[in-house]
Formats: sequence, C-alpha cells, structure tokens
Amino acid sequence: MKLRNLIDKIESKYPTNLAYSWDNVGLLVGEYEKEVKKILVALEANEKVVDEAIQKGVDLIITHHPFIFSKINRVNSGDLKGRLILKLIKNDISLYSMHTNFDIAKDGLNDYFMEIMGFENCEILEETTSEKLYKLAVYVPNTHVQIIRDVLGTNNAGFIGNYSHCTFNTVGIGTFKPEEGTNPYTGTIGKIEETHEVKVETVVPKSILNKVIKEMIKAHPYEEVAYDVYELQNEGEKQGLGRIATLDNEITLEELANKIKDTLDMDKIRLVGDLKSKIKKVALCTGAGSDLVKLSKRKGAQVLITGDMKYHEAQDALDMNMNVIDCGHFDTEDIFKDVMKRFIDGFEEFETIKSEVYLNPFKII
Ligand SMILES: [Zn+2]
Repeated sequence: MKLRNLIDKIESKYPTNLAYSWDNVGLLVGEYEKEVKKILVALEANEKVVDEAIQKGVDLIITHHPFIFSKINRVNSGDLKGRLILKLIKNDISLYSMHTNFDIAKDGLNDYFMEIMGFENCEILEETTSEKLYKLAVYVPNTHVQIIRDVLGTNNAGFIGNYSHCTFNTVGIGTFKPEEGTNPYTGTIGKIEETHEVKVETVVPKSILNKVIKEMIKAHPYEEVAYDVYELQNEGEKQGLGRIATLDNEITLEELANKIKDTLDMDKIRLVGDLKSKIKKVALCTGAGSDLVKLSKRKGAQVLITGDMKYHEAQDALDMNMNVIDCGHFDTEDIFKDVMKRFIDGFEEFETIKSEVYLNPFKII
C-alpha cells in the first residue's frame, strides 16, 4: 500500500486535528508515494531505533513521541537530529508520529490502557473539543443512488450515535444544459436537460470531510458533481484527554496498584495515598498528567493514574486527600507499540514489528 493511503487510514481513525496546537504530528520524514510493507512501531525514535529499522529492513517507523518536535533550522551531520534525518532519508525509511491526537482519540492510548486493565464505561477526563459536524448534500441520478450511499457509509459519513450509514433521500428533478466542450454523462450539448435525481443528505465530521467528498466524487458518474456542504450547529462527539472509569466493584488502592504492576509488567510502582483507601472511580492520563489531580478529584475519582509526578504535586495531592499512582511516563506509554501494532495488523497487508530497543531512561535498582 502507498504510504499516502496508509496515512489516510490512520488519520481517519486518529485525526491529526485532535492534537494540541504545540504538538507536531503526522508524516515528519518521508515520501507519500512510497510503497510500504514493513513497519516498526516504537515509543520514540532515537539512534538505536533508527539503526534497528535499517537492520530489519522496514519502510516506515511509527512513533508516539514526535521525532521532530522543536524547530530545526538545518539538516546536516553536525548534530544528532540532522544525522538521524539523513540516515532515514538515505535508507528510504519514512517516519510518522501520532502524539496528543493519539492520547485524545477514541481507541487511542488512554482507552487502550483502560481496556487492558479491564475497566469499561469510560468517560473523558478533560474535554478539549467537540468535533465540528457538516451536512453533505449530493444530487445523484437514480442509477447511482445506492453506490453513492455505500461510498458515504463505508467512508464513515452518516454516523448518528451508534447508527451508521444514516442518510435522507429526496426525489426530484435536476436540470442542466451541457455547454460546448463538456462531456455529459447524460443529455445533449446545448440542450436543457431534465433528469430524475435523488438528493442524498448525510452528516460528516470535519476530520473526514475532505476524504468523504473526494471518494464521493470518484464514485459519482457526472463530469461536474453538484453537491453542497454546510456547517451544522449540532454538537459532534466530545473529545478530550484522559479517561475516568467507574468500577463494578470497589477495590483498595493497594489492589489497584498491584493490578497495574501485573498489567504493565512493572516490578515497583510509586504512589501517594492510603493503601487501604477504597477506589470506585479511577482517573487516568497516560504520560505526563500530574496537573489533572484536582480535576480528577472534582469529577469524583478517588485516584489518578499517571506519570511524571513531582514532589510538590504529590504533597498537594496528599493535602487534598487524593490518591495518585505514578507509573512513570515510560510505562504508561510504551503500550503504544501494542495498540498500534494491533491497529495496523487489522489491515492484513503489513508486517508490523514492535521495537525491541528499551527506551526508558530511568533504572530502578
Ligand atoms: Zn509521552
């Protein structure tokens, strides 16, 4: 599959516009028209990961942490970043990163963490946006109504709640006059034509609007497709960072910490709070989420699971009687490899391998 087409598939599930404005996600190094067969997934790309990719002959590296984050003014062998970019280009390896968009998106990192913990009924911890919705109305000759409806549906237009393929269809008469130089699907040049058409209307979220229009036009028989797009005031699906799960049965903080250790295969875990305290609602923010302690408490959680907690933040959490389990940034996010491999394997076209380079800079002895 061409890299461009794989990226389309990734971004219709994990749109880049969900990312924070300071973030840098998407194709950071690479050639859109390149054929991709072998993919390496890694939490981030350093020299060892790039060497691993070369040694294993991969076409594409997908990372969680953006490979290029702050602005670079030159690409040369004088610094590490430049050397790695040159190495990637020389070895024809592309690099794609999905960061805060992957944290926020449905079925992204936070949802996956909750899934492997076995926690269902998750809500969003901190709402960032609700997706903008558009109405797409397209005028279709009777012969192609079903084809167009199928294209809209298979490209994920027409979702209302858990109902897919939702459209409204109005039968009517379309009129047009093909001018000189046209190649009309039906009708005669210079003569006003009347034709039976159906106006097919459906709802489309902003993140997939361009793609849906492109695919619809491709499947439409007319040389010039008549369609309207207008913005809706309806609120789209809410999106945001972190999750809160309500447990079926209360557990203690100690039990929860041990469950995390088992799930993430950790020897030790750092926590703040009373080991015996009862937990019914669990808040989570993978990576660095220690600034979400207050919000987690306000939303009724008895614990926040996150990484990167500082001493004074831990003191503040204790003062407000809030438990925090600090799994470390690395351990909450290295599962990126698992969830991404599962997603890519779903296409059954690629060989996806998880990086074997151990990236945690910390050691616990
Ligand atoms: Zn991170």
